[in-house]
Amino acid sequence: MASGPKARIAANLATVRQRIAESLARSGRSDQDVKIIAVTKSAELDAIRALVELGHTDLGESRAIQLAERAEQLQATGGAAVQWHMVGHLQRNKVRPVLEAGAVIHSVDSLRLAEELNHRCEQMGIVSDVLLQVNCSQESQKFGVAVGAAVHLPELICTLRQLRLVGLMTMAAIDGGTDAARRSFGRLRELLEDVRHEGIGGEAMRHLSMGMSQDYPIAVEEGATIIRIGTALFQ
Ligand SMILES: *Cc1c(COP(=O)(O)O)cnc(C)c1O
Repeated sequence: MASGPKARIAANLATVRQRIAESLARSGRSDQDVKIIAVTKSAELDAIRALVELGHTDLGESRAIQLAERAEQLQATGGAAVQWHMVGHLQRNKVRPVLEAGAVIHSVDSLRLAEELNHRCEQMGIVSDVLLQVNCSQESQKFGVAVGAAVHLPELICTLRQLRLVGLMTMAAIDGGTDAARRSFGRLRELLEDVRHEGIGGEAMRHLSMGMSQDYPIAVEEGATIIRIGTALFQ
């Protein structure tokens, strides 16, 4: 068999894992796990397949239709064990294909979207894991609810019976630099602590989805349990 992209992807994955381990050690979290979501938006199907063949099961997409298409393509080639994650902004009229792919939704950013998801899940007879996206960097163009809404909204989402709220998600400002990224991630961690302190969501409410290729070591130091990596895996 031709080596294809597999060796390159395996090396990239090893590098990411190594840097995660270093960040965990630096922050005294060596006993903890960090889930890597491979964000496939700019990757070739061959490269995605190589990653799945390496045993990687968590894949992410930022667009609903592309997620559904890729899920179908991979399923046709034996990617049955894949868990998809919707990490980008989700419009209410695109909820269905994402749920049909069995995706975890990281980008719930309004009560209306949560209600639509709940309604669709009810029709489909499923319960979906979701995270609330919070705008911790105070950039006006970004998606995500304001920090000030990030305790009240989880409480409302938890009343929706077909959704299981499992955590919070954020993105650091793209050109904000290291210190700003660290502040955003630290803010998300504090918010999760507040929500948990209020007893909202119970034990399931424990994930921090934060960190991308350029800032994941910092996110892990600040408590990330899930990182979303595209470029650093598929480059
Ligand atoms: C594209 C994307 C990522 C991955 O970005 P990289 O910089 O390529 O690692 C993570 N999260 C979201 C929401 C994205 O859209």
